[in-house]
Amino acid sequence: MAEARCSCGALRLTLSAPARLVIACHCRECQRRTGAPFGVGAFYPVGAVVISGAAKAFHRVADSGGAVRTYFCPECGSTVYWQAENLPSMIGVAVGALEEPPHAAPTKSIFERSKHGWVHIEGAAEHRH
Ligand SMILES: [Zn+2]
Ligand SMILES: [Zn+2]
Repeated sequence: MAEARCSCGALRLTLSAPARLVIACHCRECQRRTGAPFGVGAFYPVGAVVISGAAKAFHRVADSGGAVRTYFCPECGSTVYWQAENLPSMIGVAVGALEEPPHAAPTKSIFERSKHGWVHIEGAAEHRH
């Protein structure tokens, strides 16, 4: 059973199944969301995720055109998870919020068109511009 939490610990997720996918995303919105050069999300089936604590949602339109709702702790501001309209069966969890980060490196590296030049995602089977 894996867990994820925000900085202050008020917003927590319990994950009862392994992540199906780990994706590194270099899009501008993930850069803004994280304050880091790229975001990494582990995707879990909705049925395997139990959420506790209050979350505030931020709704935005992704570069791909679909809507994304990112959920953050209203106390400390950490984004812990998100759900994309075009992937309703999965919940994306910020890998930095996981108590035990998955050992698996990202299998996909997407939106590399806005990737910082010094960032190299090794081992990803798929690189998307
Ligand atoms: Zn918090
Ligand atoms: Zn992104």
